[in-house]
Amino acid sequence: MNYTVKEKEAFMREALKEAEIALENDEIPIGCVIVKDGEIIGRGHNAREELQRAVMHAEIMAIENANASEESWRLLDCTLFVTIEPCVMCSGAIGLARIPNVVYGAKNQKFGAAGSLYDILTDERLNHRVEVETGVLESECAAIMQDFFRTRRKK
Ligand SMILES: [Zn+2]
Repeated sequence: MNYTVKEKEAFMREALKEAEIALENDEIPIGCVIVKDGEIIGRGHNAREELQRAVMHAEIMAIENANASEESWRLLDCTLFVTIEPCVMCSGAIGLARIPNVVYGAKNQKFGAAGSLYDILTDERLNHRVEVETGVLESECAAIMQDFFRTRRKK
């Protein structure tokens, strides 16, 4: 993964734009983009409420979007940027899509499977291992989640 700090922040800002779409739909604001050769080839946001699909997390939508644009299930040489640490399902999907690099903004202590509860992306027993970086725009990525849950508690 050869992106500069500035480039990584710019891609994470694009993922945050996706999270804003989820927020507008009143759902957990997580966003994701998949980048290949400096270009975004897939975008996604949590759309469980919008589409009434249990599995439609930001990463799944972005992977499906990138598979379609690449006309391939393999997303080799790609970097996935997601605002919040991927869950068990999405970490599995990242492996199945053969994505080699993942950058996430903030940890998810309750559901995270990329270092918090589990470490699926770097587990040596699995044949696909992923290079993981965390903390890019961490405070922005965490803040949009905190705002969402604070507002929801008030309702
Ligand atoms: Zn997920």
